[in-house]
Amino acid sequence: MKRIVFLGPPGAGKGTQAAGVARELGIPHLSTGDILRAAVASGSPLGQEADGYMRAGKLVPDELIFKIVGERLARPDTRSGFLFDGFPRNLAQAETLERLTPIDRVISFEVEPEELVRRLSERRTCPKCQATYHLTFQPPKAAGKCDRDGTALLQRPDDRPEAVAERLRVYAKQTAPLLDFYRQRKLLAPVNGSGTPEAVAKRIRDALR
Ligand code: AMP
Repeated sequence: MKRIVFLGPPGAGKGTQAAGVARELGIPHLSTGDILRAAVASGSPLGQEADGYMRAGKLVPDELIFKIVGERLARPDTRSGFLFDGFPRNLAQAETLERLTPIDRVISFEVEPEELVRRLSERRTCPKCQATYHLTFQPPKAAGKCDRDGTALLQRPDDRPEAVAERLRVYAKQTAPLLDFYRQRKLLAPVNGSGTPEAVAKRIRDALR
């Protein structure tokens, strides 16, 4: 059970949970969002092309995503398994993934829309290691600084209200149909994503058994 996909709306807790689950299972955490943000920060051609779409809360074109995912899956550390977080995000991506590799399970995160907005609006991210915090529920030990490396925390440009609204619309229209896609393939395991990170982690462990 080590070829895993995390599916769910922005703010559902995929990234937070993916880091812990990947560590426990000894598999790489593959976040297309993290890879794209690193590309934007480095100013590479990929980053320059992706930046505008990301700021607006829209999906980056599939060809760019396929290139990233193809290259990442070709690396030897994915032989023991992988955890995709934020990929696939539309039907074309899910069909492409199906051609690239079998999948053992898709964990779908279920969280109320109001809760998603509450989580995203107070989220802060470390631009260096991508660790995320929540100003109220999971604040850093020293205000405004990453616990791991002391870097000044930032609000992601796409966690601002206008972009959040667009990301939720994009999720409903383009990504939510994947729930049926994976349900039909008997791969879908819905998990209640509300509550503490520890409570959600336990539900995910159970769902992966
Ligand atoms: P995330 O960190 O997963 O919320 O992704 C942040 C942003 O990166 C998204 O809003 C998209 O603009 C872009 N992105 C990440 N993954 C994908 C993907 N699989 N397909 C298209 N765009 C993506």
